[in-house]
Amino acid sequence: MFGYILLVFLVSYFPIVINQTPIVNIQWVTIAAFLQFGLYFEILLTQMAVLFMLVRLNLGKGDSYRFPMNSLMFFFISLCSGLVYFAVGGNTSDMQFSSLIGPIIIYQISLFLFNELFLVVAQWYTGRKRKLFGEDVVWDIIGSLVSLPLGLSLYYLIQEIGSGAFLLLGVPFVCVSYLLTMYKSSEDVNKILQKAADIGHDLTERLRVEEVLSTFITRIVETIPGAEAYIYDVKQGEFLLLEFSSDATRLPRAIQHENSWEIFKQVSESKSPMLVKNNEIKDHELKKENWKNLMVVPIIRSQKVEGILLLTTYKRSGFKKYEVMIADILASYLGVAIQNARNYEKTKRNSERCGLTGLYNFRFFENFIELEMALLKDGKRQNLSLILLDIDHFKQINDTYGHQAGNEILIDLSRRLQNFIGKKGTVARFGGEEFVVLLPDFEKNEAVELAEQFRLSLESEPFPVHDTMVAPLNDRVYITASFGVSSAFLDSDDETALVRNADRALYVGAKQKGRNKVASYSRG
Ligand code: GH3
Ligand code: MG
Ligand code: MG
Repeated sequence: MFGYILLVFLVSYFPIVINQTPIVNIQWVTIAAFLQFGLYFEILLTQMAVLFMLVRLNLGKGDSYRFPMNSLMFFFISLCSGLVYFAVGGNTSDMQFSSLIGPIIIYQISLFLFNELFLVVAQWYTGRKRKLFGEDVVWDIIGSLVSLPLGLSLYYLIQEIGSGAFLLLGVPFVCVSYLLTMYKSSEDVNKILQKAADIGHDLTERLRVEEVLSTFITRIVETIPGAEAYIYDVKQGEFLLLEFSSDATRLPRAIQHENSWEIFKQVSESKSPMLVKNNEIKDHELKKENWKNLMVVPIIRSQKVEGILLLTTYKRSGFKKYEVMIADILASYLGVAIQNARNYEKTKRNSERCGLTGLYNFRFFENFIELEMALLKDGKRQNLSLILLDIDHFKQINDTYGHQAGNEILIDLSRRLQNFIGKKGTVARFGGEEFVVLLPDFEKNEAVELAEQFRLSLESEPFPVHDTMVAPLNDRVYITASFGVSSAFLDSDDETALVRNADRALYVGAKQKGRNKVASYSRG
């Protein structure tokens, strides 16, 4: 009996771990025990195995409910299968192989079926999904196929040679389990690295910072189950929350308190990930969240800590070694991806905007007007109107106050025009002192009305000019402009005509007729 207990202990202690779940095959030992000492001993031995197994899995206090549940489940499996065995004519005194084999096969099948049955029932309670004929079941079947012959061998060998049988069968079994687990875990690490590489590619393909952040958050949370993730930016020693994930059932909370920075600062200095347990957290705010474990990972780029990744979990068992490893790898991918996306956004901004006024430039505007015209042609817009604006006698301004003062006026005017138009349309710098406004869903007379309002505000509100050679400081200068308006499809059929006709209206209808006017194009 002691031999059985020792063997069960060893087998439970070196379980075969597949996909992070231990597959403990003690059945071959309990079958032999059942045949030799009967049902009571089998039940007792199985209960011990459950206990060893749960201790081995390091279950925390929060999981202690699992012991009575598992214990009860295995008790019923043992009892029911034993009763089935006796019901089909099996007994524990006749050891003839030919009379034993039938009932013991049925016994083994019962063990398997009752086990599956209880797992399905347990699934209703825990809500965990288990496919009826999924991978787990395959493992259970293979387990059963190993257990029965091995159990019978142990039983007969004990009859032949006594306790030495435990060594003859136990040692190779435990060694093979150990080897399989080692092999599996190196395979698992490979899979995790492969996954990290996939996520890395996914991240570096994202062009926008926001996309990079949200992709990262989604993927890290699916890679490290049960974790919530927070990304902080480091700016001048401050930590700024950029993005976070949260359990969907609870409201998202942004942790943004300075005390939590103490941990972040430590990690920024050490530049390596840190694991913190709930009882080690000094910050009350963080403690209040009741996370059992935190992982703080620096986001490093060119030797500099650019951000902090905070992973939190309610799991008492905390983060596993490989999870720290994968978080660390992913954080370095994140650093590179954010940097690339920032560069891309900057380059894109520079290529779209005018350096002086910050308005869209003509190149951007050309593409934009094409898109809007396509929408109009598809019937997604009712109208498309365009205002072209040219400052009157701007050359004189330059000549009088200097080019720098002229620039300041252009900057000021751009700001005024942008504020005036707001969300009604898109403002761009067309060229030198010419500006353009595209107004989707604006009828021509509405566009003329808008231009007129701006013309009036322009002529009544002077522009300050500073720091010039000629004018005293803080002089004010009155500016006027001429406007041309055209509209598709009322007078223009495509984007080129829209711009050309507004331009023509501006020169013929406004400039030539004395400037400071709004003119609209008319066909023919
Ligand atoms: P009008 O349009 O009323 O006929 O007269 P104008 O003097 O405004 O017209 P013109 O096209 O002859 O001159 C435009 C001037 O705008 C020429 C140039 O000195 C000035 N200009 C163009 N771009 C800039 C700029 O970026 N900064 C400054 N300061 N001046 C500019
Ligand atoms: Mg001009
Ligand atoms: Mg001009």
